Amino acid sequence: MIESLLLNFLFLLFPVLIYLIFFENKFHTYNKYILIFLSSISMVLCMAFPIKLQIGFIFDLRYIPFLIIALFGGYKYTFPLYFVLNIYRFMIGGPGTLQSFLFSTVIFSLVPLLSKKFIQQNAKKRIISAIVVSVLTMVFYLSTLATFLPVLNMEFWILTVNAVCTYALVMFVIMVLLEKINNNNNARKSSLQSERLIVLSELSASVSHEIRNPLTVTNGFLQLLSKSQTITKEERTYIDYALLELKRAEKIVSDFLAFAKPQSENMVNSNLKEETEYVKNIITPFANMHQVDIQYTFNNTLMFKYDKNQIQQCLINLLKNAVEAMKENGGILSIVVSEQKNKVMIKIEDNGIGMNKEEVLQLGNPYYSTKKEGTGLGMLMVYSTISKVNGTIQVDSEKGKGTTFTILIPV
Ligand code: ADP
Ligand code: MG
Repeated sequence: MIESLLLNFLFLLFPVLIYLIFFENKFHTYNKYILIFLSSISMVLCMAFPIKLQIGFIFDLRYIPFLIIALFGGYKYTFPLYFVLNIYRFMIGGPGTLQSFLFSTVIFSLVPLLSKKFIQQNAKKRIISAIVVSVLTMVFYLSTLATFLPVLNMEFWILTVNAVCTYALVMFVIMVLLEKINNNNNARKSSLQSERLIVLSELSASVSHEIRNPLTVTNGFLQLLSKSQTITKEERTYIDYALLELKRAEKIVSDFLAFAKPQSENMVNSNLKEETEYVKNIITPFANMHQVDIQYTFNNTLMFKYDKNQIQQCLINLLKNAVEAMKENGGILSIVVSEQKNKVMIKIEDNGIGMNKEEVLQLGNPYYSTKKEGTGLGMLMVYSTISKVNGTIQVDSEKGKGTTFTILIPV
């Protein structure tokens, strides 16, 4: 019996391992299908090598992958598993086929309901919830089984305790592994991102300073030249073009300067009120131009240290993107600053064009832009600034519906 149990356990480790080794680093949507495929295989293997017990009842760990996919993926991704499980169960046939079908249908219709809440929890709570769900599933399974048994003898109760404990323990081990993989993955991603930002911040500070001076000098001389009486009209238009292009270059340089280290003369210890009101006023004319209404709520007493200019620029970048996303049809831009335990929360919400998952992943990559005149530096600056105050950014977006940026800054 122990042997079959270990074998079952091995089948469950198999998708985790394959995924970890081959697919962990690649972010594609087909990753999900691979996971579902692997889970189906481990489920079928569990059913093919069950633990046979004396009272003529079969026990296996098939519901572990089923529950995990149901909790993480919801209905859409559980359905293939439900399908495979029942097809295979019908192929095995024998007594209990109908009960198994009914039981899996109940589990299939109930557990994915929890998915939305489950995903939002933190890792620890997810592990606990998964264990609770698996224990409940087993209890439910055993109590339906009990109604078919003539007598509930000692053997049945020993089996019950064993089955429940096994499910809880196995679920615990698998969930810890999954969360650990997830955690490592996130840590690697964020360290990569912060390294990128450090390099950028050092480079941009030095380069921008060096380039600014010659730009200013050139600008001055060109302006002098354009006042000259001896040049032709055509020549003057050339100078105007040159000046316009210089202005653009200067703008890019000053954008880059925003990546530099926080300047000590700009540091303040405050609650963001001044900055958010300032940027709201700045963005209002631009919003009006595109039929965007601004809703603004400020409700924060927590103070923290930040570079005033950079935070302003960062908020402007976010608000500008939000308005630009609603360019076509107008909409509502909501800015909410509030406090949450000991974190300042800034929520910027629009109901514009939105982004799909791949586009959200691209956010903050240098030069990623979907706009004609875009630079793709705005979001990079946002991530850089927020990481300097140890904050986090959460992006919730849906294509065609809108986008919400939630920034949490610890104080
Ligand atoms: P830019 O605005 O110059 O294109 P950003 O770095 O500010 O560069 O933004 C990068 C891209 O992210 C944008 O081109 C756009 O596709 C997407 N984006 C950013 N914010 C939003 C938003 N609120 N709604 C929809 N798309 C957005
Ligand atoms: Mg932008």
